[in-house]
Amino acid sequence: MIIAKPKPVAKLVEFTEKFDKILLVGCGGCASVCAAGGEKEAAELAVALRHWRQKQGSALAVSTAIITRQCDAQYLDSIAKQVTRVDAVISLACGVGVQFLAECYAGKPVLPGLNTVLAGGAVQAGLWEERCGLCGNCMLHQTGGICPVSRCAKSIQNGPCGGSQHGKCEINPQMPCAWHLIYEKLLATNRLDLMMQYRSPKDWSKEHSVGAKPVRKKVLP
Ligand code: SF4
Ligand code: SF4
Repeated sequence: MIIAKPKPVAKLVEFTEKFDKILLVGCGGCASVCAAGGEKEAAELAVALRHWRQKQGSALAVSTAIITRQCDAQYLDSIAKQVTRVDAVISLACGVGVQFLAECYAGKPVLPGLNTVLAGGAVQAGLWEERCGLCGNCMLHQTGGICPVSRCAKSIQNGPCGGSQHGKCEINPQMPCAWHLIYEKLLATNRLDLMMQYRSPKDWSKEHSVGAKPVRKKVLP
């Protein structure tokens, strides 16, 4: 799941200072689950933005809507009427959702209401941890199901780096050393031979910084 955090309200006030009517669009997918951009957060943000503008001596009309998933083009038409009535849209989705909305409503400013932070999962209520760096070339079969790309501070392929102390990372001693975790998992599963295998440098041409890559799912006949 994609984890996102709300941008500070002051930032959104700044984004919207030239507009009189805006639409806040929540996302029913990941942004709702991580309590950053669901129906409740959209309603609370609407109140905060109206209040802030009032304090500045003017009025901002804020309406809200929710889309099942902003990262799926088939759902975006559902807010078409509301979009025509406003000056701008604030998307409470991850960066993917913001871009889908911006493409769908080409003549309307679409602004990000969230900061997209990571791909991860909930380890306890209200706490999410990164688990995948979207490298495009998964190596979890070699590392005991523990991702060194996202969980090692140096993303090294052949660890540990030598700075690991008592199972903690030298860069952030609050965090476990990913390669220590990998060692323990491989030990527990009798696969320490994998620890000794040299992994050649990763092919980073498959990860995100080389540009957008379409991924097509094969449709079975
Ligand atoms: S190895 Fe790559 S694809 Fe696999 S979990 Fe890590 S970052 Fe994600
Ligand atoms: S101590 Fe472990 S997690 Fe930290 S940088 Fe070194 S190998 Fe990576």
